[in-house]
Amino acid sequence: MPDLLSIINPATEALIQELPVDDRAAVADKYARAWRAQPGWAALPLADRISPMLRFRDLLIERVETLAALLTSETGKPIAQARSEILALPGRIDFFVEHAAGVLAPERVYAEPGLVLPGMGALEEVVAQEPLGVIANISAWNYPYFVGGNVFIPALLMGNGVLYKPSEFAALTGGAIAALLHESGIPEDVFISVIGAGLTGAALLEQPIDGVFFTGSYATGQKIAIATAPKLILTQLELGGKDPAYVCADAKVAVAAAGLADGAFYNNGQSCCAVERIYVHTDVYDEFLEAFLQTVEGFKLGDPTDANTYLGPVSRRPQLSVLADQVADAVAKGATLRCGGQLVDRPGWYFAPTVLTEVNHTMTVMQEETFGPVIGIQRVASDADALALMQDTPYGLTAAVYSTERQRAVEILRQLKTGTAYWNCCDRVSPRLPWSGRGHSGLGATLSRAGISTFLQPRGWHLRAP
Ligand code: NAD
Repeated sequence: MPDLLSIINPATEALIQELPVDDRAAVADKYARAWRAQPGWAALPLADRISPMLRFRDLLIERVETLAALLTSETGKPIAQARSEILALPGRIDFFVEHAAGVLAPERVYAEPGLVLPGMGALEEVVAQEPLGVIANISAWNYPYFVGGNVFIPALLMGNGVLYKPSEFAALTGGAIAALLHESGIPEDVFISVIGAGLTGAALLEQPIDGVFFTGSYATGQKIAIATAPKLILTQLELGGKDPAYVCADAKVAVAAAGLADGAFYNNGQSCCAVERIYVHTDVYDEFLEAFLQTVEGFKLGDPTDANTYLGPVSRRPQLSVLADQVADAVAKGATLRCGGQLVDRPGWYFAPTVLTEVNHTMTVMQEETFGPVIGIQRVASDADALALMQDTPYGLTAAVYSTERQRAVEILRQLKTGTAYWNCCDRVSPRLPWSGRGHSGLGATLSRAGISTFLQPRGWHLRAP
């Protein structure tokens, strides 16, 4: 009998289903199937890989209600946010499809006429693009459609086979994604889901895969990098963040407060690019804090299946004690608790939206990834002070500056080592722009044209006519 993975509903704590876990032998068997199928998939004309992807796109829209309900049941994501996530994926598919041919196209970089040397034919140099082969896609639970889709959609379009391990906290959604891709016409051996937690992920890394594309925490990302180092395969890591935002003295305060409250609390703060720490210039601090708290008070917490709910439960029970510990540490070191700070007295894994002020960088809430509905707001005296605090982190995913002056914001953002910079916005991802981290936030990029070509390797052809 295989081990079973229990899928629990975070809002009710009820068991939804038990899924058989893939052990090492099952993972090896799945790898072998993908290895046999991938060359045939890569040999198809691009149009034959695009058409099932477009069918997948249409099915996402057609089935959004069922898919959103499933996602909400296993992650506690409010249903309106689950729908938004699923309905944003077609736009990403459109981007990948639009650019697939251009990225794949061979490029003739040099052409020399014949007979330059006696008896020699013309020389051509061509850069051709080839898929990596069979790749592992090890995914996080917080946005399974986004973080999975950023990998498996371009990887499949470029001709790779994909072994997709959804998170153990979004495994039903992972199964639904696989079923939908197969129904759309992606061959069952070209895209294979692998079910289980860390041990299954580790078993996947033991296979002779040609690349690994991981989304998850810095701690796990490090383990992945160590496991794949001797293999010398492409290892792409999209990891966590401690994303800062700064509200300058000249900012439109109401806009900043509303935007940053959403950036901090959307999906219960469980976004890689959630706003995790806020610095506010002293001139606008009181006005900002009042508007921010007012916005947070307006967030409806409750049953995630209710379309009006903005804050559901957190998706994993152990996170509740991480949040409680960060709050306790901050308060013990002198922070003021403006709202929340404790579990909500109802079934399910609910933590009240929490705002802390009088915070500083000795506190874990300003140093370690929170990944939940807790935010620290710190008063600063100058742009230089804000910059120094924003720079004080090993992470580098995103940073935001709110100011009416573009040059002022750009000058601050330019000095921060992050993959993404936001002026008067935050917590935003675009298929047209690269998504990447610096430092502990990861290696490599998804999205944009770079996020398509990362699933290819170039081959140089030296072609001399006889
Ligand atoms: P996690 O690191 O706990 O797990 C991620 C995946 O790794 C899961 O599928 C898990 O089963 C697998 N895994 C665990 N141990 C493994 C091992 N030893 N070998 C192989 N696989 C293993 O992360 P999570 O809780 O699922 O996700 C939350 C984290 O992901 C946060 O830090 C968040 O910031 C980050 N994240 C980053 C991005 C981004 O784009 N940068 C996007 C979403 C989430």
